[in-house]
Amino acid sequence: MELIANYKWRNWNDNLACTADLYRPRGLQELREAVRRAGRKGRIRPLGNSCSWSPLVPTCGSLIDLGRLRGMHETSFDGAPAIRVEAGATVRDLVDFTQARGLTLISPTIFQDISVGGAIAVAAHGTGLHTSTMSDEVVALTLVDARGDVHHLSAADGSLFDAARCSLGALGVVHDVTMRCWPEFHLHVEDRMIGVDDVLGGLPDLLATYEFVELYWFPFTDTLWCKLMRRTDEPDAGATLADRLKFAFTYACTFASCNGVLPLLGRVAPELTPAFMQLAPRLSMTPGSAVAPASRAFHYQRAYPRCWDMSYGVPLADAEEAWRRTIGLIEHLARAASFPVNMVVHARFIGPSAALLAPAHGRAICDIEVVTTRSARDAEPFYEQWSGEMLAIPGARPHWGKYLLHPRAVRERYPMMDAFLAHRAALDPDGVFLNDWLEDAVFQLRP
Ligand SMILES: Cc1cc2nc3c(=O)[nH]c(=O)nc-3n(C[C@H](O)[C@H](O)[C@H](O)COP(=O)(O)OP(=O)(O)OC[C@H]3O[C@@H](n4cnc5c(N)ncnc54)[C@H](O)[C@@H]3O)c2cc1C
Repeated sequence: MELIANYKWRNWNDNLACTADLYRPRGLQELREAVRRAGRKGRIRPLGNSCSWSPLVPTCGSLIDLGRLRGMHETSFDGAPAIRVEAGATVRDLVDFTQARGLTLISPTIFQDISVGGAIAVAAHGTGLHTSTMSDEVVALTLVDARGDVHHLSAADGSLFDAARCSLGALGVVHDVTMRCWPEFHLHVEDRMIGVDDVLGGLPDLLATYEFVELYWFPFTDTLWCKLMRRTDEPDAGATLADRLKFAFTYACTFASCNGVLPLLGRVAPELTPAFMQLAPRLSMTPGSAVAPASRAFHYQRAYPRCWDMSYGVPLADAEEAWRRTIGLIEHLARAASFPVNMVVHARFIGPSAALLAPAHGRAICDIEVVTTRSARDAEPFYEQWSGEMLAIPGARPHWGKYLLHPRAVRERYPMMDAFLAHRAALDPDGVFLNDWLEDAVFQLRP
């Protein structure tokens, strides 16, 4: 098995780093051996594609990189299609695999470069009130615990399974998961600009009309870009030349804005942010409608610049309040000549999750995220204030993988945290799969 001593790890956004021994197992037996060997020396963190902003991964012990475990095959669950996939496969691998078989995932992340293991570990999700997180699509998984023992878990294992399908990597290493998938269906996709007040005042109707809803707000504009999707039997007309050109134009504009114009603006002339934001909707989307296979419609975005991203899941009933607080804060700061948010505010809506530590556990949520360039002035104080605004909503819970301040405020927001920690203690009594952040701030295991 490959082992790199003193590997210098950095995350995707380059805001986290550590030096640790890196194990790269190529199969289940090597994974068990890696856990045993690394566990004898100290602590271990499972590693996906390093995309998280929060310090879930850093350790001075060992990292176990699942990147060489990417196999998958088609299977079935309760007579319906399913895919058994190794945890190091990316969401892109999985989407390509399902697409090629006339299948689709439901509620996957838009971004496809994260690993399946990393997505499941934080209950990552796309949008869709009739479904929930990717963890909720998992019907079975294989977990290697701190002793190197293998557990095959499914719903029959009750709350242990619900702990393991969003574990923050604190129960052991997930080797593979079996995920439900669905025969490919078509979506009628509408991209519309609608007034902020009309959308927020009419959210329940919007959510009742469309199965999959996403909202984008470019700061200082008075409309929301609404991506509204519902199932249809209409055929996929395929992309016309005009569609392809439109897509290429949008991609080029998003790429250039996010990698060039906005970072520069954030650094040298933030006061121009409101003016640029008036252009942003025109550069990012074209109003209209189309029919597309779900697996294509869910992954409409391609340009992902490095950025700051913080996200909170709030109970559905508090969605309007969360939006008003967010817009209010950004506009309030602008009146004091501070423009820390120069990309977008984005919301998605998902149903209740069974996973004990999913932000959507036990209730449907609006997941609202604020994204800004890495160079934006005052981003740090903004996120501090915005965390306060969101935490003022009693049911708000932060996304585990995004930028996360105030981890100590999180534990009390999870009614099933003690049950999760009991499973953790049973599987890993010596805390091999913890790092300081999880142990001290999130789980508060040290007095
Ligand atoms: C550009 C971008 C877009 C994103 N879009 C979305 C989105 O649409 N929806 C959403 O919900 N999230 C989104 N995220 C957040 C992302 O889903 C999480 O940060 C996710 O955890 C990243 O996966 P990763 O493979 O990079 O894992 P890492 O960041 O490497 O690890 C994250 C956690 O997973 C654990 N882990 C990884 N593999 C395993 C394993 N095999 N067994 C046990 N634990 C494991 C790690 O220990 C760690 O605790 C996005 C992130 C980025 C950078």
